[in-house]
Amino acid sequence: MCGIVGYAGSRQAGPILLDGLARLEYRGYDSAGVAVLSPGGGLCVKKTKGRLSALNELTDSGRALDGVIGVGHTRWATHGEPNDVNSHPHVGENGRIAVVHNGIIENYAEIKKFLRQKGLTFQSDTDTEVVAQLLEYYLSGGEDLISAVYKVLHRIEGAYALGILCADTPDSFVAARKDAPLIIGYGGNCNFIASDVTAIIKYTHEVSYMDDGEVAVVTKDSVEVYDALRRRVEKPRHTVDWDVSDAEKGGYEHFMFKEIMEQPEALRATIYPRVKDGRVVFEELKIGEEYIRKLKKIYIAACGSSYHVGMIGKYNLERLTRIPTETVLASELRYSDPLIDKDTLVIVISQSGETLDSMAALREAKSRGARILSIVNVVGSSIARESDDVVYTHAGPEIAVATTKAYSTQLAVLNMLGVYFAGLLGKMEPEQYDEIVAELRLLPEKAARVLADTERIKYLASRCFNHESVFYIGRNLDYALGLEGSLKLKEISYIHSEAYAAGELKHGTISLIEPGTLVVALCTYLPLFDKAMSNVVEVISRGASVVALTAEGRAGELSGTVEPENILTVPETHPVLEPSLGIIPLQLFAYYIALQRGCDIDKPRNLAKSVTVE
Ligand code: GLU
Repeated sequence: MCGIVGYAGSRQAGPILLDGLARLEYRGYDSAGVAVLSPGGGLCVKKTKGRLSALNELTDSGRALDGVIGVGHTRWATHGEPNDVNSHPHVGENGRIAVVHNGIIENYAEIKKFLRQKGLTFQSDTDTEVVAQLLEYYLSGGEDLISAVYKVLHRIEGAYALGILCADTPDSFVAARKDAPLIIGYGGNCNFIASDVTAIIKYTHEVSYMDDGEVAVVTKDSVEVYDALRRRVEKPRHTVDWDVSDAEKGGYEHFMFKEIMEQPEALRATIYPRVKDGRVVFEELKIGEEYIRKLKKIYIAACGSSYHVGMIGKYNLERLTRIPTETVLASELRYSDPLIDKDTLVIVISQSGETLDSMAALREAKSRGARILSIVNVVGSSIARESDDVVYTHAGPEIAVATTKAYSTQLAVLNMLGVYFAGLLGKMEPEQYDEIVAELRLLPEKAARVLADTERIKYLASRCFNHESVFYIGRNLDYALGLEGSLKLKEISYIHSEAYAAGELKHGTISLIEPGTLVVALCTYLPLFDKAMSNVVEVISRGASVVALTAEGRAGELSGTVEPENILTVPETHPVLEPSLGIIPLQLFAYYIALQRGCDIDKPRNLAKSVTVE
């Protein structure tokens, strides 16, 4: 999910690779490394955890590496904590192969087991190392490099951009991709690969975009590309008209927008490895079935947007598992003498895994005997280390302060845990289970559909950005969704906004509705669509100006009441999953409004990404 750069030419590769990695720094990473093919025929690998400055120090900014062909990598750990050994490149047992990889090898555990039985030993905890070892395994069986690469690609499942060096082929390196970005750059008397043009724009503007299943063999003078069936393909070349400064943030104006757009990919990385043969599986969990059966209560502790994920979790976990579930603000839990004991599972949710309030709640719960399961994005973070079980969201690095893709992947994990527990407890009808699992797998594609049409939301935002106060209303899951939609708006646009359970309005807040007040009405939770409609009518009759969000196919029912151009839609999915799609237009709505108001979107005032104070 982070960065790859590869070079074949006649200049020393080291400094070029390190320079390329520096230009990929904006993508976020936790460790970095390079490998070059030495003129003597061997591989020289240098890698370290931490910033690129550490790698620069280790390699004298690349000058200490002798060789004209090489690959470099910035890692965002998904499997194995960020340390020197887990950093890429990974080298095969006989030292002939070095591999850099972005993405996740979903079936790494089974391949690792197979290779261990064959006597190979592993150095790291990463999924990536199986690629290097499997390549070595096929090479020692007599395959040439390209055949071995095809055999490996055939065997691995998941998402990858790969850069491969082999000591047996000192004039080239190999690249491959599936569901992770990788481009080829043509530099005249040298050639490149990179995760995005930023890394190589200094050297060339002429690129090709690799497609899924393709393999490229890159030398100083040529780039040969083959499809999944090993047929030669002629890649169209494109001229990139960006200059170096445009290329920051991958061409997007803001990290927040880039991260909103990355949600389909992030959802896929989070969901797909955990659905096998139509079942939700959490291979990483140590919790036994026995424990789950005896479970009396679930607490979800979190802050900010993660707390809003927990609010959806409360509805869905109770609905699916019938286990009483309470969602509490982490900052409140620790001082509330909570009814937590050894039969309570406490789920702590945190993007960074360093949120101080959440950590304090974790420790409080632990001291009362609870078992802790955390949902965290940053591998090896403090909360992850202190938990009994960790489920990592594979959102990749999130740089904008206002969370988007971390929220979405946390939500996917929590919903999947609900399905997993309910499945074990026999609380779901088989058809219901199958339907949710099928819809989970469709979420990335449906999210991509929502993102394909941002114009409508942009237009709506251009008509709404002058409001100084906004109310988000919805029932049940739509209420929980509204909490997050409202937070997005206030944190980046500084517009006062509040979310209310729609049925609660009449008990007080409706007094604030006057002609022209903006109300965002959420009507995506279809079991309560009619009830939500009544609340829409209620506020409209008091003069509110309403923007409504509903599922495709239900817009018609709203259009008599709400102005058609104020109606946004998302694809229909299983009701418990609807917030996963509903959140996307709300993120975009907040984003475009903040853009219109000229706010500092990626770094809103007074806010920090990782809140490590109480
Ligand atoms: N899954 C790999 C790892 O954890 C690659 C991570 C990345 O994309 O940087 O090492």
